[in-house]
Amino acid sequence: MSAFDDLIAGNAEYVKGFANSGLTGRAARGLAVVTCMDSRIDPLGLLGLEAGDAKILRNAGARITDDVLRTLVLAVYLLGVERVLVMPHTDCGMAKVTDGDVHDLTQLHGVDTRSLEFHTVPDQDAALRHDLTRIRTSPFLPKDMPVGGAIYDVHTGRLMPVSL
Ligand SMILES: [Zn+2]
Repeated sequence: MSAFDDLIAGNAEYVKGFANSGLTGRAARGLAVVTCMDSRIDPLGLLGLEAGDAKILRNAGARITDDVLRTLVLAVYLLGVERVLVMPHTDCGMAKVTDGDVHDLTQLHGVDTRSLEFHTVPDQDAALRHDLTRIRTSPFLPKDMPVGGAIYDVHTGRLMPVSL
């Protein structure tokens, strides 16, 4: 486990101050946030939230994939989610490459990724519009559920709501 020793040590410290044992798995603020895996994003912190408040779904580019939709269905009907915020961010690596670029880069490692769809984002506004529509028109999600979009600026910490 040596590759993870720092994490085990970090957890030992965390446990000393742990005070969330009374929380349930329901989202206390009725919120799900879909955001990118970018390590600069602290979803709870930047939204003024705490553990227990929201479901956080992350992937490369904050894209609404089939797996994200599957998870939202569970979050809405079983876990108290009543609103969804889709939150891509500035300086996203997914907006700087095409799927073809990624295939070329992995090829340098001797790996053929052409059977994978990376959902790269050549136009962030268009991608966000597409993803919001995917949620709003899903036959599996409530028609009247608030679905919002906002871009997180990784350089200022500011959230910029978009009306799409
Ligand atoms: Zn990103």
